[in-house]
Amino acid sequence: MKQPAGPGQWRNWAGTATARPARWAQPRSEAEISAAIKDAAAAGLQVRALGSGHSFTPAAATAGLALDLSLWTGVTAADTRTGLVTVRSGTTLRALNASLAELGLAMANLGDIDVQTIAGALATGTHGTGARLGGLATQIEALDLVLADGSLVSCSASTRPDLFAAARIGLGALGVVTAVTLRCVPSFTLAADERPMPVEQVIEQFDALAADNDHVEFYWFPYGRQALVKRNNRVAPAAGRVAPPMPGWRRIWEFEVMENAAFGTLCRVGRAAPRFIPALNKLSSAALSARSYTDASYRVFVTPRRVHFVESEYAVPRESLPGVLAELRREVPRLTEPVMFPVEVRVAAADDIWLSTAHGRDTAYIAIHQYTGLPYRAYFDLFESVVAGVAGRPHWGKLHSLDARRLAPLYPRFDDFRRVRADADPENRFGNAYLSRVFGPAG
Ligand SMILES: Cc1cc2nc3c(=O)[nH]c(=O)nc-3n(C[C@H](O)[C@H](O)[C@H](O)COP(=O)(O)OP(=O)(O)OC[C@H]3O[C@@H](n4cnc5c(N)ncnc54)[C@H](O)[C@@H]3O)c2cc1C
Repeated sequence: MKQPAGPGQWRNWAGTATARPARWAQPRSEAEISAAIKDAAAAGLQVRALGSGHSFTPAAATAGLALDLSLWTGVTAADTRTGLVTVRSGTTLRALNASLAELGLAMANLGDIDVQTIAGALATGTHGTGARLGGLATQIEALDLVLADGSLVSCSASTRPDLFAAARIGLGALGVVTAVTLRCVPSFTLAADERPMPVEQVIEQFDALAADNDHVEFYWFPYGRQALVKRNNRVAPAAGRVAPPMPGWRRIWEFEVMENAAFGTLCRVGRAAPRFIPALNKLSSAALSARSYTDASYRVFVTPRRVHFVESEYAVPRESLPGVLAELRREVPRLTEPVMFPVEVRVAAADDIWLSTAHGRDTAYIAIHQYTGLPYRAYFDLFESVVAGVAGRPHWGKLHSLDARRLAPLYPRFDDFRRVRADADPENRFGNAYLSRVFGPAG
């Protein structure tokens, strides 16, 4: 789980956050998690749980106690009739997906990758795409946490409902999550259809695309004309002819060679000679090609991401998507520092989780990226100024510059969250610099 960056040092996947924890612990039980927290409190240290380090923000960074939960994994209970599955918090999504498949179950929706831990992914509001579906946290039925005083508590919609409402997407601010009970669905197959379309046409037809497909997303290279539209639809068990699964050799060719090795080479060329980026970008755009295949849901949702990048993502009200994209497409080519990576658009249904980026509104997610090592500040600032006009909410795990003053008006239950946090952690045991920025002073 820890990303080695030197002796005793922690660094995230993107290299945008580092920390030197005073103390590390690798607990193997709830009792060890509780003891580590009490020991840290006695030494006056703050505590952060580590996931897989895939947040771009310094959400997990601490100079106090770093709790590495990589030995605290596995499914502990499963009811295949109700779909309720309890999993330890350090389990990666990859391991969880494999265990669920063995049980004939699956997560209803997932994001792009599966290396995150379940607790880390939930804590920052990780989501996939689907106009009728919510992010991962909407699939939580109950949570177990160790609080600042070392006590283990359970919460759900009926037991300690306020703690549950806050902790479902809680950035680790309420306590250390030890177990999550998820409401899973029977295993399902997805038919994937990916094809290039002119970007103007995709934007124009996006409402229909989102309504007609279970999961839809598209991305385009900022200087290119083509977008790649990905549609993933559930295949009914009795369905007739569907595209076959992608053979192993083709998975390697498409995902490893073309999307990672070849694209990585283009990115390195662009970083060495940025003036070529618009041309390289058009080349990548022109090379987008169609493919159709079917596979188990979790194998379709997830793809390997080996080319490193930095990312910012904002959730905007669905109806404001065309305006935001029009402004971005107008302004990005005017930046003096060119952009190598594509822009990605996804959707989610409104939910009721206090700190969900989709709280109370049907949402479009716009994610912007830049290849690691290339300048990105002006681009990300421009993006923030555009989404600020439509009450955009930043992904809690992706780069943004908002603080509590600017976040509070975006979330109707922000003050409730702060109240529950102050009750659960009056001494700010689980604080760090990122939480101070986004929530303001604790207590
Ligand atoms: C290549 C890449 C692709 C991505 N794709 C997507 C995507 O498709 N959709 C999306 O929404 N996001 C995506 N993300 C963002 C990512 O899902 C989130 O940032 C997620 O939080 C990372 O999980 P993690 O296990 O690495 O947690 P970390 O980044 O290590 O930690 C995140 C937060 O969770 C807290 N935490 C971890 N474990 C616990 C615990 N047991 N109890 C309490 N708090 C805890 C940490 O303290 C920290 O505050 C992507 C990121 C990358 C780098």
